[in-house]
Amino acid sequence: MSDLLERLRERGWRITAQRRVVAEVLDGDHVHLTADEVHARATARLPEISRATVYNTLGEMVTIGEVIEVATDGRAKRYDPNAHHPHQHLVCSRCGTVRDVRPTGDPLAALPADERFGFTVSAAEVTYRGLCPDCV
Ligand SMILES: [Zn+2]
Ligand SMILES: [Zn+2]
Repeated sequence: MSDLLERLRERGWRITAQRRVVAEVLDGDHVHLTADEVHARATARLPEISRATVYNTLGEMVTIGEVIEVATDGRAKRYDPNAHHPHQHLVCSRCGTVRDVRPTGDPLAALPADERFGFTVSAAEVTYRGLCPDCV
């Protein structure tokens, strides 16, 4: 059983055939699929699954915090199942490949107190950009 599916089950999420397929398609390391990619892969396993079901399921997974939405440069949003291990993203400016990376040092700590404007800051997103080995 996939890690994402296991987490959803532990949270008491009702696992239907459709939800199971979406969770299985999205599971793994360095997985950052668009909703259309999730739908295409889900259809290969469960031909009757609709686009609306895929979108709704992804939205619900994001709402309960088991999947992260990753916005990359005006491209379609990507969905990331790596929700419980803080990480940043390395994005190829040409082909859009996304990798999970863990910079040394805490990006939260990189924001000095006098730049916080009284905010209680709880998260930081850093995107590293460049060209992947295939695009260099
Ligand atoms: Zn690339
Ligand atoms: Zn990620």
